[in-house]
Amino acid sequence: MSITASVATGLTTSLAKAARSCAAALLPQNCFLCAAPSGDTLLCAPCAASLAHLTAEHCPVCALPSPASSACGGCLKQRPHFDATQAVFRYEFPLDRLIQSLKYVHRLAIADFLGRELAQLSTPQRPDLILPVPLSSARLAQRGFNQALEIARPLARSLGVPMDITHIHRRRDTTPQASLPWKERAKNIRHAFECEIDLTGKTVLLIDDVMTTGATLNELARTLKAHGAARVENRVLARALKD
Ligand SMILES: [Zn+2]
Ligand SMILES: [Zn+2]
Repeated sequence: MSITASVATGLTTSLAKAARSCAAALLPQNCFLCAAPSGDTLLCAPCAASLAHLTAEHCPVCALPSPASSACGGCLKQRPHFDATQAVFRYEFPLDRLIQSLKYVHRLAIADFLGRELAQLSTPQRPDLILPVPLSSARLAQRGFNQALEIARPLARSLGVPMDITHIHRRRDTTPQASLPWKERAKNIRHAFECEIDLTGKTVLLIDDVMTTGATLNELARTLKAHGAARVENRVLARALKD
């Protein structure tokens, strides 16, 4: 082996080593939830199994529990602007901790784990476009990233569907929905989004981390349909259930 080749090989090896240690640094060394050894995965097997999946029987429109998976009373009474909702988990302990941490620590490792969970749900109708729910520019600047976009990546990759992160904006910084009583959330989010493209005939898949009242997703769906979208579906990691 020539000196140049040997230097090159050495360099490749150290680059590979550096890449591996970078990847390892993204992961907590132990289970993120209980600190038991978890190898190279975010959660140990018991913690991964403890995450509460959505109940099998739920409303196809809003994903709240509903006998025989029929449309729930709320959706029958007032049909939302979105056409369907899929959720992987129920929004409860310990998943809530994981989602809250997504915004602060081990962001890439958690986003990767949650994104892969999101990508595992079946996709009966292939969307034309995937749209992570946008943050306002002020919120984006403050946080540095959009968690909905981070968790949408594996799904967009596996479906080979484009994500739009440039033509649909959150126009203004609304009061954070979580700080408001449920009844005021729809009013707070009204006219919060703007869309700069023609979506005539398109099926759009909205991605978000948590769906609580659905007011944000409903307003976004309303905006997209006003720009021609034929169908708008939600896919969220976790559905908060009314009690
Ligand atoms: Zn654990
Ligand atoms: Zn419903």
